[in-house]
Amino acid sequence: MSWRMLSSFPRCAAGPVIYCANCWSQRVCAVWIVKTHHVLKRKLSTTTSLLIKTEQVFTKAGSFAERLAIVDDNGRYTYRDLYLYSLALARKIHSALGCLDGDVKEQRISILCPNNVSYVIAQWASWMSGGVAVPLCKKHPAPELEYVVQDSQSTLIIVEKNYLELITPVADRLGVKCLQLPDYSPFQESSDNGHLEKCGTAPVPDAGFVVTDWKDRGAMILYTSGTTGRPKGVLTTHGILCHQIASLVKQWEWSKDDVILHVLPLHHLHGILNKLLCPLWVGATCVMLPEFTPQRVWEYLLKTDCTEIPRINMFMAVPTIYAKLIEYHTKYFRQSHVKDFIYSMCQSNIRLMVSGSAALPEPILKKWKEISGHTLLERYGMTEIGMALSNPVHGVCIPGAVGTPLPGTEVRIVMENSTRNHSSYTVIAEGNSRETKVKPGMEGKEGELLVKGKSVFREYWNRTKETQDSFTSDGWFKTGDTVCYRDGVYWILGRSSVDIIKSGGHKISALDVERHLLGHPHISDVAVIGAPDMIWGQKVVAVVQLKEGFSLSQKELKEWARQYVATYSLPTELILVEEIPRNNMGKVSKKDLLKRFYPTTSK
Ligand code: AMP
Repeated sequence: MSWRMLSSFPRCAAGPVIYCANCWSQRVCAVWIVKTHHVLKRKLSTTTSLLIKTEQVFTKAGSFAERLAIVDDNGRYTYRDLYLYSLALARKIHSALGCLDGDVKEQRISILCPNNVSYVIAQWASWMSGGVAVPLCKKHPAPELEYVVQDSQSTLIIVEKNYLELITPVADRLGVKCLQLPDYSPFQESSDNGHLEKCGTAPVPDAGFVVTDWKDRGAMILYTSGTTGRPKGVLTTHGILCHQIASLVKQWEWSKDDVILHVLPLHHLHGILNKLLCPLWVGATCVMLPEFTPQRVWEYLLKTDCTEIPRINMFMAVPTIYAKLIEYHTKYFRQSHVKDFIYSMCQSNIRLMVSGSAALPEPILKKWKEISGHTLLERYGMTEIGMALSNPVHGVCIPGAVGTPLPGTEVRIVMENSTRNHSSYTVIAEGNSRETKVKPGMEGKEGELLVKGKSVFREYWNRTKETQDSFTSDGWFKTGDTVCYRDGVYWILGRSSVDIIKSGGHKISALDVERHLLGHPHISDVAVIGAPDMIWGQKVVAVVQLKEGFSLSQKELKEWARQYVATYSLPTELILVEEIPRNNMGKVSKKDLLKRFYPTTSK
């Protein structure tokens, strides 16, 4: 059935069905949500007839109704379960915000939930109600949460019971309402029409409001890690989100038969877009763990009994997670028949393993290949632009490179030419998913990466000046990352502000040096920073975490590194630490390291 035929269904009690005449991508009627709710309830056995092209992940749920959407520690949830629970919550949001017409008109709704089905329901319900979802970091202390709720001007906080104690004082201080989620116990019988009542969530009355501008409506605000100043809220619309999802679905060949294991935080784009929205967009299954532990990930990857939990065939993570999985493998899987079993399980069951959000060190890439037979597919992205560059699913992945632009993304590598009154740039290379053209004689030259396309965010929330400053006058987003194009692929050299070390006239990529140093047999983790230096401008400093029971001197490190890096890139100082401080996306704040070790000279 096409969407047009929806109009032939009986009228909702709330009023007429209003729908887009021509283009689902532009206009989606919120009454359709109610309508679909009726249809879902009435026609559970024929839900494939609801296959409709729209731009919301929740409206697509109709066509996947009985398929398994989420598996978490509480149980299994179909798309229909997700949909009905979300619809019920959307109605509660309307009442909580006193929006009688049912459209909360882009009010910001903060979400504080564990990594399980409750997060998905809270996200879908925020969108169904017409709001903008603001996922909070569940590991943040109260002042950080307060900052985000306040900065986003959230008018409601949806909270799961385990976080109520943490968030209530924040909500009280700010005068923001909290809406506590019920327990979303799994439905036992998917054909049981009484399930909603049984679970303590009554079916919602009809909403009856109309939303006609989904495409340009705010969908989500994510707070960036904030290397400069306080974190900024990155606002994406439903249209932008849709492009971000669609290009990844295409590039990584997502299908409804995929099953991904989800272990990443859900206040960051990697966990939300790549690992949750993509599978839910295509009707695939997402198996959610409450958090990452190497033991559980290995358990799930190696499961032989797949009656309750379907066989995992996709995995995506940050490099630190792969490092921890390797560490666990080395420690606990020593016997050769166990190693062979793991290798063959990974080979026969898993179709794709992706790494991103930080540079993938070559030793991790190599070791992972040895363990699993998989070459990790590295990609590059950013909260503001979604994913922009990726290696191919089929074909060659060059170690250390991030491939080429994703469908719909245009990129440039530029060199700034600024004079006192005027700023312009020279284009070194320009590319899209089909080709990259390099200015003659400039192959391999590094510059800042600029990005344009429908996946680029709309604005930093309430920060007009910062938004303006982050784009060039001709509309390209300035990523702040230094990259180069060589051998047909893009290479990330690091954040221009902290990873590009300027020493004695040389430009050194801290990421490059780190990649090599990680190959040292005594080093378990490393962060290379550029410290101020009277003579050289900056000097290369290696902050190193050693493997247990090993030692290393500056002289030894330098001697060893000489065979891999240029003389001017050799670390001239070694700082040993117990642990490199990484956040839960595996990122190191180099600004903090500089402040800690060079407090008087770093800004
Ligand atoms: P976030 O917005 O928190 O996802 O951080 C985005 C930043 O992570 C980018 O601007 C890059 O500096 C870094 N990043 C993401 N992917 C990669 C990658 N594959 N290699 C190196 N850096 C990366």
